[in-house]
Amino acid sequence: MHRTAAYAATSATSPLGPWSLERRDPRPGEVLIDIRYCGICHSDLHTVRGEWGPVQYPLVPGHEIVGHVAAVGGGVDRFAVGDAVGVGCFVDSCRRCDQCAAGEEQYCDRGMVATYGSIDPSTGEMTQGGYSTRITVHQDYVLRIPAGLPLDRAAPLLCAGITTWSPLRRFGLEAGDELGVVGLGGLGHMAVKFGVAMGARVTVLSTSEGKREDAMRLGAHAFEVASAPGAARRLAKRFRMILDTAAAAHDYNHYLGMLGIDGTMVLLGIPGPSPVAAASLVMGRRRLAGSLIGGIRETQEMLDFCAANGVASDIELIGAADINVAYERMLRGDVRYRFVIDASTFGG
Ligand code: NAP
Ligand code: ZN
Ligand code: ZN
Repeated sequence: MHRTAAYAATSATSPLGPWSLERRDPRPGEVLIDIRYCGICHSDLHTVRGEWGPVQYPLVPGHEIVGHVAAVGGGVDRFAVGDAVGVGCFVDSCRRCDQCAAGEEQYCDRGMVATYGSIDPSTGEMTQGGYSTRITVHQDYVLRIPAGLPLDRAAPLLCAGITTWSPLRRFGLEAGDELGVVGLGGLGHMAVKFGVAMGARVTVLSTSEGKREDAMRLGAHAFEVASAPGAARRLAKRFRMILDTAAAAHDYNHYLGMLGIDGTMVLLGIPGPSPVAAASLVMGRRRLAGSLIGGIRETQEMLDFCAANGVASDIELIGAADINVAYERMLRGDVRYRFVIDASTFGG
């Protein structure tokens, strides 16, 4: 067993603070990872504050994990000690259902074992995430971080990256398409980078005028404050695809009207409910869809694409003591464009 320093939430309302836990020695097929960096996803905040349902505390969030293999269990053939690796939003699944067989473990019929806050059927214990210095994971759920990707800027790819990459590919974004991105935060800024890399014409639909310059620097072709007077009329029927990454409840109909005929809006953000008017879809044969992260195979493809094309996340590196401030800033939309924790600051 390995005593491991961590930061945990102890209730929905108290700040996160130092904690420690035991990580197991790797069993057959597993690797023990020394964590170097962990990104902060808005899902961490939704979860620890109980916005997605009851939570068992203490809870260590974090599912944008990168580090180095520190030890391997028997039969591990894909990784060796010292390899740069990543772990995303899940650490196991049933491996038998159609979704698992298709490499879409995130939609496992039995439910994926999330990196934190899930009961791990193999131990009966609750999983604890990447705001910590070590984690033990089966090699089948570990990603290889290709040489050339800086580890700290690679961490957010494990969630924000794959969550935006997957729908752009699956819903068939093509070069020359008009793509709208709602919300310029962790997911949104990766959507801009991938959209540009795929040859689309990308418009950021933001609530923050102050992000205009950043959006253009990230490669966007246009920036619109979506609530500005006349925006809905000016942007009517503009887009072939919209990725909606907003973390707070908002009016979907406002953005659906910006889709052209046969256009698709993919919901990625998971705020509270918000009504959709049938007419918003019917009047343009539009589609409203959703998408959950991506499978292991697809995540590796995304990482390899990033390394080959020089794509990585724009980050603000912080110490563990700044996690609570980062959460408050995230709630204000003040993210540029992903907080990443330096795991050496967890202590112990
Ligand atoms: P984030 O970094 O906090 O970014 C969210 C952005 O949404 C904000 O920066 C803001 O950008 C925009 N926004 C906030 N309130 C808004 C409103 N009322 N109307 C329109 N836009 C608004 O969050 P994130 O980590 O990217 O996560 C975004 C959402 O995706 C969260 O709900 C998270 O749980 C979810 N998520 C889903 C998946 C999945 O698999 N589907 C994976 C990861 C995360 P502007 O300042 O530009 O307006
Ligand atoms: Zn996430
Ligand atoms: Zn399964």
